[in-house]
Amino acid sequence: MTFHPDWFELDHPLPRCPRSRCRREQTCCNAGTDAPCLRTHESRDAMYFRMAAELRAFTAASLARDAAAGVSRAPLPPYEVELRLKAFKEALEAREREFERTGR
Ligand SMILES: [Zn+2]
Repeated sequence: MTFHPDWFELDHPLPRCPRSRCRREQTCCNAGTDAPCLRTHESRDAMYFRMAAELRAFTAASLARDAAAGVSRAPLPPYEVELRLKAFKEALEAREREFERTGR
């Protein structure tokens, strides 16, 4: 397996490639290029969008659990939200540097 700095291997390959050309030709249209097949890898942007969607779903589920339990939380002041987002971004960047250094 070749290491691609801008592509991330999926934990579970998709059952079929999202590219119709790959499916039609029954071989990856990226074969022999630097970009891997979308069946087994996702781009950096795709990973960020997927992580953001997971974070939104996680937040929504957490709020729904709180609402079901009758817990009401006061919204955070905007400055506190900014601080938490900053800490989260720093953690993501640290993880990315670790990934680029070690490849995992
Ligand atoms: Zn493909």
